[in-house]
Amino acid sequence: MSDVAKALARPPNYPTKFFGFELGAQTTLDDKNDRYIVNGSHQVDRLREVLDSFIAKFVLCGSCKNPETELQMSKNDDIIKDCKACGKRSGVDKVHKLTTYIQKNPPPKKKKGQGAHAEAANKATDEVEQMENDAQTQDDLTARINAEAKAVPIADKKADNEWSVDTSEAAVQARVNQLSEGVTTILGQDGANSDEDGNDAPESQLALWIEEKHAEDQTINPVDILNKSRDLNIEQKHKTVQVVIQSALTQNAFKELDGIIPVLEQMCKDGSEKHQKSILGGLERLVGLNYPELLPQLPKLLMKIYQADLLEEEVIQHWGTHVSKKYVDKDVSKKVRVSAKPFLKWLDEAESEDESD
Ligand SMILES: [Zn+2]
Repeated sequence: MSDVAKALARPPNYPTKFFGFELGAQTTLDDKNDRYIVNGSHQVDRLREVLDSFIAKFVLCGSCKNPETELQMSKNDDIIKDCKACGKRSGVDKVHKLTTYIQKNPPPKKKKGQGAHAEAANKATDEVEQMENDAQTQDDLTARINAEAKAVPIADKKADNEWSVDTSEAAVQARVNQLSEGVTTILGQDGANSDEDGNDAPESQLALWIEEKHAEDQTINPVDILNKSRDLNIEQKHKTVQVVIQSALTQNAFKELDGIIPVLEQMCKDGSEKHQKSILGGLERLVGLNYPELLPQLPKLLMKIYQADLLEEEVIQHWGTHVSKKYVDKDVSKKVRVSAKPFLKWLDEAESEDESD
């Protein structure tokens, strides 16, 4: 969604909300993680139609049908598509629900009069701001359109920097098709392509599935987690254990473990060292990154898992005495082990008692 939105130079929440309204589906907007979710199961064809409709209504210039428009709010709160190609200002469908939404969540204002140097200085703060810069948007769209449809002439820059645009119905349709191609790329691949983070891995799909439930404030039945991992064919994968611990548990981890431990038992049937290390890695992320307020509870959490026979002394002791960058950075890794000390000490003493017995 954010790729599509970027290509259209609209904030991702606009097309997401539009999909939600048109499909009668719930949406989740997670700006922080750049994740925009339309709930439910929908046909790709239908999604294409809806995207085409969004482009026609909220992107294409009302006069020349060029997509290089910018949304602006007029003084009396009307939404204006300001066309960079022909200069005309056209309105949008006033009764559409998205119109009300945009009025309540107006497009971010672009900063005027910022020089290239100031822009560069701000680059770390926000790439999005650069996208909203006219020139950037034009370049980006032009590059994208050129790359995607070399055969169809969309918009040629003349020497005098004016746009010549084919406004015939066929040309407009072709333009819409190219713009909405992005959505098919994203929806149709079904995890066949991977992004930089390897987000297509089934373990990541499981994590995403759990995250979505959390984002919707749904309680997750541990049995569903187990079933989902079976569907994804990763029930016995050691990484799955890590994902379950770091994603499914929250600030109530101690209590939630009662439900999660039986799931872990199913997933750790062979009790391999890898599985145990993944349990510890998941805990490191849970208390080191996701819920630092849980750090003081780490000994309690470890104890509960240990008593469920999911961890062996030797593996825990080795973990406790070796800082590792595998799951979190070094400082966090140290902090986690310091927090685990009371449990490690107890384990040490319990072990020597065993020996003297
Ligand atoms: Zn125009």
